[in-house]
Amino acid sequence: MRSEARLEAFRRRLAESDASAAVVTEIANVRYLTGFEGVFDDMANVALLVTAESASVHTDSRYTEAARHAASGTPWRLFIQGESLYAELCDELDVMEAERVVLESSVPYGRFRYVSERVSAHVEVEEHWAERLRLVKEPEERERIARAAHLGDLAFEYVLERIEAGRTERDVALDLEWFMRKNGSDGVAFPPIVASGPNSARPHATVTDREIVSGDLVKLDFGARVDGYCSDMTRTVVVGTAGERERELFDAVLEANRGAIAALRPGMPARDLDAVARDTLAARGLDEAFLHGLGHGVGLQVHEAPRIGRTSEESLPIGAVVTIEPGVYVGGLGGVRIEDLVSVGSDGPEVLTHAPKHLIEL
Ligand code: ZN
Ligand code: ZN
Repeated sequence: MRSEARLEAFRRRLAESDASAAVVTEIANVRYLTGFEGVFDDMANVALLVTAESASVHTDSRYTEAARHAASGTPWRLFIQGESLYAELCDELDVMEAERVVLESSVPYGRFRYVSERVSAHVEVEEHWAERLRLVKEPEERERIARAAHLGDLAFEYVLERIEAGRTERDVALDLEWFMRKNGSDGVAFPPIVASGPNSARPHATVTDREIVSGDLVKLDFGARVDGYCSDMTRTVVVGTAGERERELFDAVLEANRGAIAALRPGMPARDLDAVARDTLAARGLDEAFLHGLGHGVGLQVHEAPRIGRTSEESLPIGAVVTIEPGVYVGGLGGVRIEDLVSVGSDGPEVLTHAPKHLIEL
């Protein structure tokens, strides 16, 4: 049922652009359009071929059994690769005498060239058809994201007991990952970031073997994945007592986070929301230290539409689920980021992250 509505919406894009067929290979889009649960892993060799009349899933024998089971009772027909998935797809496009075929803009150039040279149809790329459909979440999708966010909240509570001087960033990152996976996360949404002391000044630091020392800011950015859907949250804590400068940074970021959440209204331009946070930080002389956009959509992928930044052209429709994550980064000292997951409701923000976000000194 869910899959059929999504497929119909996708076909409307096909009709609007006058294309005869679309080939979908991005795994998140494959999962979304088929609605198949637990069939395709991140490395899966799979392509969807969608026309006005037909919808088929092309994959190899590793996925046959699970895909056949998932496809039963759906509009999706299953084709199992014999020799070469793409050669067979191209043959199929020729048999159906497709005139205009669209591929996703994410396909590697070599693959685009291969299909273009091999089929008689004219081949083009489309701009994020499925991604745009995914932007507004169905209630069931929001519920899964909320469960992933809840698991993140619990992981934060768990790890607070385990952050102390002498432990390394890697120790803490493993604790976060272990807790989430042990409690039902399918892998993790992304490898947790634990950045301590001066390392926290890098917005996307990689985890190191640095030992945490008293007085450090420790930034924790992590997310779970529940029934295919991601969460994403960041908290920054201080080990020992916060210095005056650390406290100033923290207070500024917390004010920017709270102000942006309070300002969120359905339909508003994403860049206006970014500006709310940026202006708050500017008033404290910290706008130059805010090195990234305010947030991004979260769903089947941890980073998806809409992007919330200074130059965003998108708006924030009811049903979008986005992060609000202002941060400031001061080289040599450290950084603070506070990230919450928020669903855009008809009356305003519905915050999905419930972990405490006041300054915690451990
Ligand atoms: Zn994050
Ligand atoms: Zn994020």
